[in-house]
Amino acid sequence: MDGFTLTESIEVPASHGRALGVSPGERLRIIDVEGRQVGDLAAWRRGQPEEYLSPAHTVTRNWRITLRPGDILATNLRNDMFRVIADTVGYHDLIVPCCDPVAYLKRYGLAHHRSCTCNLEEALAAIGADCPVRGEMAFNLFMRNRIGPMGEMVYEEPTHGPGSHMELECLIEAVVALSACPQDQTPTNGWKCTPMRIERWTPLT
Ligand SMILES: [Zn+2]
Repeated sequence: MDGFTLTESIEVPASHGRALGVSPGERLRIIDVEGRQVGDLAAWRRGQPEEYLSPAHTVTRNWRITLRPGDILATNLRNDMFRVIADTVGYHDLIVPCCDPVAYLKRYGLAHHRSCTCNLEEALAAIGADCPVRGEMAFNLFMRNRIGPMGEMVYEEPTHGPGSHMELECLIEAVVALSACPQDQTPTNGWKCTPMRIERWTPLT
């Protein structure tokens, strides 16, 4: 990345989460190591966790239900939080909430299945960040949902390959958490849950 130095590289094991702090001007590169994996990303203003990344407010900021380079990820207070710099995938989800323990129990009869909601909570606890997690906060990178002609939601198997990534410019001081989604009951992750990586890049001075 020209003009930037790699400050931090965090491996996110399959079906787990990791979190970190980021500052304005820094960039995050979120990488799908093996391909066909969805990442659920949530973020909060550092020190003010009542302000958080909001997919719904992001839709009204860009007037589009997906994201392109140049688009903004906005907070629930309608402040700009991240700018999309690059994206090698092109499909993402701003509509559905994270998977959580209740979803696995009610839909599939599975108790104790890992979930994005719990992954985000574990990741935040590991860095001592006290940020509330709710499923509707997450932006689902690389998730290949399609809206059918009658408005129905169709979960399609992703097609993106190893090393696919999205780059975000950070616009405010933030805490960010990413879950490598453990959903193995639908085509969401290509029927195989795999690891991801988060890189934090700092501008050269
Ligand atoms: Zn998930």
